[in-house]
Amino acid sequence: MFAAGGGVTGPFGGTEAFGVAAAAEPVLDLSRHWHEECGVFGVWGCDNAAQLTYYALYALQHRGQESAGIATVDGTEMFHHRGLGLVAEVFAPEDLNRLAGTGGVGHVRYSTTGANKLANAQPMVLFDVYGGPLALAHNGNLVNAMLLRRELEERGSIFQSTSDTEVVAHLIARHRGGSLTDAIVDSLRRVQGAYAFVFLTPGRLVEARDPQGLRPMALGRFGDGWVVASETCAFDTIGAEFVRDIQPGELLVIDGAGVRDMRFARAARKALCTFEYIYFARPDSDIDGRNVHVVRKAMGKRLAKEAPVEADVVIGVPDSSISAAVGYAEATGIPYEMGLIKNKYIGRTFIQPSQVLRERGVRLKLNPVRKVVEGRRVVMVDDSIVRGTTSRRIVQMLRDAGAVEVHVRISSPPVRFPCYYGIDTSAREELLAARLSVEEMTEAIGADSLAFLSEAGMLEALGAGPEAAGPGAPAGRHEFCNACFHGEYPTRLYDDLGKGMMEMAGHRGGGS
Ligand code: AMP
Ligand code: SF4
Repeated sequence: MFAAGGGVTGPFGGTEAFGVAAAAEPVLDLSRHWHEECGVFGVWGCDNAAQLTYYALYALQHRGQESAGIATVDGTEMFHHRGLGLVAEVFAPEDLNRLAGTGGVGHVRYSTTGANKLANAQPMVLFDVYGGPLALAHNGNLVNAMLLRRELEERGSIFQSTSDTEVVAHLIARHRGGSLTDAIVDSLRRVQGAYAFVFLTPGRLVEARDPQGLRPMALGRFGDGWVVASETCAFDTIGAEFVRDIQPGELLVIDGAGVRDMRFARAARKALCTFEYIYFARPDSDIDGRNVHVVRKAMGKRLAKEAPVEADVVIGVPDSSISAAVGYAEATGIPYEMGLIKNKYIGRTFIQPSQVLRERGVRLKLNPVRKVVEGRRVVMVDDSIVRGTTSRRIVQMLRDAGAVEVHVRISSPPVRFPCYYGIDTSAREELLAARLSVEEMTEAIGADSLAFLSEAGMLEALGAGPEAAGPGAPAGRHEFCNACFHGEYPTRLYDDLGKGMMEMAGHRGGGS
């Protein structure tokens, strides 16, 4: 049923690029703690679906650099290829040429370290579901996956990977009666948590967004065909036209007859992840009607109002904090400068510098522009503090480069609680703000001053209104998840979640 090709047949058929699989663990780890989630893309009714998907995955690369994969359908056949590494590393021209057809699904993934990395790469492909192949790609994290997995294993399901996505695959595969769409809907009604799913069969593309709308997803038009993507920057990249955001709890079935939508679940409230705006998404993407750059800039402006300081220059930590830094500068009248330069070309196979070299100050990822900071009072804007490692290093770098004062301004509230929805947060005790007061954090990162954007300010920048802030704010007042700031999660967290998540962190390999 599956096309053979170069590479090696994986646990779900198709080909897998082992070349990069052998690469060393990722290095340099200003970004070791919280990691990108995943990016998903789907296409239906377009010539050369594989190429379109490839370019769309390029645009979504910031959402995951650990693995990439594409599955396509051509008539009754399904083809797929996936591997570890960046999109450019995983696909050679001949891999794309083998992926024939006019329907496709693609995925880029971050996963935590662990043995089963390649098995967890997506799309996941099943051989014989409702009489044919089925490919699934998932962005997000399910909060009852461990419970369902245990139940499925007791009923005889054998898992090939350690990913929570496979739970949905097994639920669909075990479903009896009705159509494949019924099986997908019934399976999704059993899972809880964050997801944007794309399912591909030879006859249709199906897309579903979780009932709280935790993860984003949009629909676009490409010629006579249709596309869906985690972020609209993928549409811009391939020349597709944005049609609309997919609604929380909405399922779209796209086939030769066009697009049919249904509401398969309703939640008490919408809870879109605010971290999509703060850090994850690309500034040129629009999510649920808001442009990411515009929101970040508004956050920076609001931060300037809440925490002004006398200084000579404002700099941002590239890339995610530049918009907020520009907003802060605009609101205060302090000039914005490019004070930090990022090397974007550090690949997975990079050789980690030895301790001796690190101690000698080898700086691979970020370097200050001495002429900008020397002898000046610097405001350094960053989008978040998780463990505090980044801020501490940068403050030191700026002082070494001659800054006379370093004032750190963070364009989001303090992160005090872990995320269970696909953002690979540190355990609570590793979150700097969970342990220390702002005053203690200022000392820990070595800054002259430190201030965070308030939750009310963040919501105002998002257009939600300040009255909506804080734990206990009545449901429906706003449409965002802010759980990592105040610990009030928008879904039930299952009784053994703490334990389950720990097991999964070691055993499952992170969010999807
Ligand atoms: P930390 O160094 O642990 O305090 O992390 C904060 C830094 O990591 C900031 O510079 C953020 O831009 C960045 N950051 C925030 N969220 C993530 C994430 N999910 N993955 C990688 N880096 C992140
Ligand atoms: Fe996003 Fe934080 Fe909610 Fe996780 S807990 S989904 S990072 S807002």
